[in-house]
Amino acid sequence: MRLSRAADQKIGWTPVVGVTASLKGDAGSATHQPLGRLVQTDLDYVEGVINAGGVPMILPPVVEPRMAEVLLDGIDGLLLSGGSDLAPDYYGEECAPGLDVTNPERDAFEIALLRLALRRGIPVLGICRGMQVLNAALGGTLYQDLPSQLGKDILNHWQETPKWQPAHEIEVLCDSHLAEITRCQHVKVNSYHHQGIKELAGGLAVTARSSDGVIEAVECNDFSEQWLIGVQWHAEMMREVGIEHKNLFKAHVCAAKRHALRRAAA
Ligand code: MN
Repeated sequence: MRLSRAADQKIGWTPVVGVTASLKGDAGSATHQPLGRLVQTDLDYVEGVINAGGVPMILPPVVEPRMAEVLLDGIDGLLLSGGSDLAPDYYGEECAPGLDVTNPERDAFEIALLRLALRRGIPVLGICRGMQVLNAALGGTLYQDLPSQLGKDILNHWQETPKWQPAHEIEVLCDSHLAEITRCQHVKVNSYHHQGIKELAGGLAVTARSSDGVIEAVECNDFSEQWLIGVQWHAEMMREVGIEHKNLFKAHVCAAKRHALRRAAA
């Protein structure tokens, strides 16, 4: 059966958002499956994209970086998900005490994918590790372990409470694109990170911090050219408790749709 022209167009205009995945054994995704290695991503990301009107496509990190171009042909937006620590080689440091498990395959894949995605102007949303990958790929550095490198005076950024519960507050910069999305200056967020941005990459601006000064969100300086937002909290887990978290996914999917339409018109 052939689709009607209207249905065909509708499908064509539904943006596809690539969601990066982790491998079994990643620190952030331990499982007890007795089978082999697993490609996996949290359903919260997948549902976040679907509920915002996008079609999610899970991107396995076992794909060779040289195949990234082919994957990018099929997506209109890129969501860099959370997971294990990024290897410090990517920001020119040796391993420091407190560094957790890293995943070389995933690191290489995501860095390559991100660089190519930015060359194409694909809208990028980075969450937790995803924000850190953004910063490192653009030339910034990371704290390898916040508690041991910043001291005990910082807030607890690794909560033991349920994923949808806030752990601390962040202050959003008034004239940022993030503020347009959250529509409030003080946002309560969850916190599942022991790493954070140290030196900000050129091309990025800080758009939110927690009260201890830790960077909790960034965006592209040249936002009209490149839709790019990174958040340190897991917005996908808080979609049901606050419109500001849901809006982040909506904004990303809308940007992906605009990108798809521009590409179709070119
Ligand atoms: Mn935090």
